[in-house]
Amino acid sequence: MNDNILFNFRPRKKWGQNFLKDKNIVFKILEEANITKQDLVLEIGAGKGILTTGIIEKAGKVVVVEIDKNLCLYLENYLPMTDKIKVIQTDFLKFNLETVNSENYLKFKIIANLPYYITTPIIMKLLKERVWAEALLMVQKEVAQRILSSPGVKDYGRLSIIVGYYCDVKFISDVPPEVFSPRPTVGSAIIKLILRKKPFVYVKNERFFFTLVKVAFSKRRKTLINNLVTFHNLSLKKEMLCTILSRLNISSDIRGEKLSIEQFAQLSNILIDFFPNYGLNNG
Ligand code: SAM
Repeated sequence: MNDNILFNFRPRKKWGQNFLKDKNIVFKILEEANITKQDLVLEIGAGKGILTTGIIEKAGKVVVVEIDKNLCLYLENYLPMTDKIKVIQTDFLKFNLETVNSENYLKFKIIANLPYYITTPIIMKLLKERVWAEALLMVQKEVAQRILSSPGVKDYGRLSIIVGYYCDVKFISDVPPEVFSPRPTVGSAIIKLILRKKPFVYVKNERFFFTLVKVAFSKRRKTLINNLVTFHNLSLKKEMLCTILSRLNISSDIRGEKLSIEQFAQLSNILIDFFPNYGLNNG
């Protein structure tokens, strides 16, 4: 029965189906996830269930979201289906995370060997729907570098700031293409996001802060000020920005890529006072 379901199965590139085949990596992921019976685990994109079986053995409850109908059918036959396992066939980007922990498990963990074509949208969704505690994610190496980067380093940007604002991020390990079938064309890495109880810095208006960060990186070769004067048609004047930056001991010819999260927060908290209605009827 199981074999029949996958008899004509061809991995679909469009869904990023690069399945793990190396048991050592599976073991490493399960070890790093440190799953207990108090945990509810959501797996995004379970594929043929190589991680799922291990998760089921350790967790209190397991919810699997998988877009591929054939793989869902296969999983329902292959996994030891009990009350504690739920397989949901849907696009994770359309899935409501708030519905997962209805039984109030102590810890809501996420585990995923992510489909790489939507890595960033999935991470942005996780940061928007912050109802989980930890996420152990296999991502492209390049995305891991962007997330873990610091000011002044080439890969530092919007993603580093947004993820760092909400999460404590840990690099777990690099993963070579050989451990997947089919082999992806890029290297991979495992990272762990631990949701902070409170964001990393105090920000008066998050929407304004994130727009500021976006604009600051909109043209990487331009200085921060030259990017900001085009900020959301708010008519920020160069002279005013120079004065504010000098108050913050920041050089007026600095580029956005040199500013830390703390400095973006300070700048945002000063600028927002000029736009008290920001987000109410604009932006
Ligand atoms: N976890 C499995 C493993 O490690 O072998 C499969 C990982 S594979 C890289 C990504 C999985 O995500 C595939 O099974 C694919 O069908 C699924 N997937 C792709 N896009 C998805 C989406 N939008 N929502 C849910 N699952 C998706």
